Amino acid sequence: MKIVVAVKRVVDYNVKIRVKADQTGIELAGIKMSMNPFDEIAVEEALRIKEAGKAKEVIAVSVGPAQAQETIRTALAMGADRGILVKAEGEVEPLGVAKILKGIVEAEQPQLVILGKQAIDNDCNQTGQMLAELLGWPQGTFASKVELGAGEVKVVREVDGGLETVELKLPAVVTSDLRLNEPRYASLPNIMSARKKPIAEKAPADFGVDTAPRLKVLKVSEPAKRQAGVKVANVAELVDKLKNEAKVI
Ligand code: AMP
Repeated sequence: MKIVVAVKRVVDYNVKIRVKADQTGIELAGIKMSMNPFDEIAVEEALRIKEAGKAKEVIAVSVGPAQAQETIRTALAMGADRGILVKAEGEVEPLGVAKILKGIVEAEQPQLVILGKQAIDNDCNQTGQMLAELLGWPQGTFASKVELGAGEVKVVREVDGGLETVELKLPAVVTSDLRLNEPRYASLPNIMSARKKPIAEKAPADFGVDTAPRLKVLKVSEPAKRQAGVKVANVAELVDKLKNEAKVI
């Protein structure tokens, strides 16, 4: 069976985000970009399923600019077999990505699609859910454990107040949470051999998808600056400040 994994190119999680002076978005010029951390976890999970002999092929898919090819190369260096780059300029909204992934699923016929639970650039947490709905497939979101059986997959989900275990009939959509696994680093030989692995190039129009934004961003602004803290000498002073300055007690 095949597994499709969605990998998004996002601003590296170590980068301190800066808002553009004209407040139309965030500064991207000269900024380090990497694979969305939840997608590294998704790739790792797909590879573990393959290494356990339960899948034959792992296909990494990215929707984005030409540079998203580097993100696919990272997945290939981790161990994915081949890639599909759907070239699109500008931010493609979750519904657009989900529609494109649906087209890829129809062409590739995987039994499992694994995505990250959310992209850390827009924090939408929508694409996996939308894809499952478009395909009419069951979904196991926020997965902290995935167990593939015959014709089904058991997913332990991280929900408010605990864990929920769901059993889904294959084919299914799974989205990865932080504790699902610890992704591997690509070794140098694997990085070299990944260069020879194939990446097919497509366009959204190949899947009949129009990626024009449905949403209009009015303004992006920095969160309000936090005020510096003060050190108090004793409990009496703390209580006094809470009562008379902060007025919270
Ligand atoms: P989001 O719904 O935007 O928070 O994204 C959730 C997940 O969908 C991500 O972790 C990726 O696995 C996948 N995804 C979203 N956008 C893209 C994209 N442009 N290319 C590939 N995968 C994507």
